Amino acid sequence: MQNPQWMEKIQSLCREWEIPFAQQVPLRDYTTFQIGGPARVMVTPSSEEQLAAICRERDSLPLFFLGRGSNLLVSDAGYDGIVVVLGKEFARIRQEENLLVCEAGASLNRVCRTARDLGLSGLEFAFGIPGTVGGAVYMNAGAYGGEMKDVLLWAEHLDHKGNLCRVPAEELDLSYRHSRYSGSRDCIVRAAFRLTPGDSVAISARMEELMARRREKQPLEYPSAGSTFKRPEGAFAAALIEQCGLKGVSVGDAAVSEKHSGFLINRGNATCADMEALIARVQQVVAEQTGYRLETEVQRLG
Ligand SMILES: Cc1cc2nc3c(=O)[nH]c(=O)nc-3n(C[C@H](O)[C@H](O)[C@H](O)COP(=O)(O)OP(=O)(O)OC[C@H]3O[C@@H](n4cnc5c(N)ncnc54)[C@H](O)[C@@H]3O)c2cc1C
Repeated sequence: MQNPQWMEKIQSLCREWEIPFAQQVPLRDYTTFQIGGPARVMVTPSSEEQLAAICRERDSLPLFFLGRGSNLLVSDAGYDGIVVVLGKEFARIRQEENLLVCEAGASLNRVCRTARDLGLSGLEFAFGIPGTVGGAVYMNAGAYGGEMKDVLLWAEHLDHKGNLCRVPAEELDLSYRHSRYSGSRDCIVRAAFRLTPGDSVAISARMEELMARRREKQPLEYPSAGSTFKRPEGAFAAALIEQCGLKGVSVGDAAVSEKHSGFLINRGNATCADMEALIARVQQVVAEQTGYRLETEVQRLG
């Protein structure tokens, strides 16, 4: 396989900045769907300086910023570009009075537990969303009546010049599963959540209650990316899918969950092609029978 033009550039950048670099990394190991071919290159910066050095070159490099891969469907052919994974150094969480300032690579669940331990309320709704802070801000993740928009004070990203920019939440264009970062090429570096003092025991009880609801309703025993489709205006995707008799329908090992019709699951060896065929089938049947157009929430790569 011939090296693409950008290969030399990323290799020399990684040498110069001592950024860990790997080739042909299977992305199925980096997504909760457990689907997808290899990333041509994966880099793992461990400092903001290293990350800025990469972002400065983004106009000539095919970069993709990966969080936990919990909302991602990767092509069977993989991604012929550079996947940037924030190193474990980007997982820090610090408290500033009622604020939690969290690096983009921190797991949202850890952020929720930290808030609980500090007696800070507001993030209970997010407990159980298996992503990172970066992915949650990018998606304006939400559940059980809450969303990032309710608690986010600001986010910081690195722009195309490698400059760190802080954007107040009001300017982040946060709406249902959307932010100003959706479709942009900025790398989110950290975010601040404005919380309110609360009782750790009550916070913990609410978190456990919501987690129990997830366990009861969601097929957490199977690889998935959560709800595959966005909620259409005036309806629920899962209810429409069930109403159309699509529960349990499958293509290869990709199946509509019996437990929660909004979840498409990987029953073992589903390929991206299987999952895409199933998505298309669900969309077609639902449109024909109900008139609703289901839009995917899951992001595609490759
Ligand atoms: C079992 C299960 C339950 C779920 N429940 C919910 C739920 O209740 N509510 C909900 O909203 N979602 C839910 N999800 C979906 C998913 O967890 C969220 O969308 C989450 O916010 C994605 O975060 P991530 O780190 O995995 O992002 P990824 O899937 O890695 O990436 C998603 C997008 O964010 C971008 N991105 C990630 N990090 C950065 C960064 N640092 N800078 C710039 N861009 C970045 C990626 O490029 C990509 O476009 C669920 C998923 C699963 C598997």
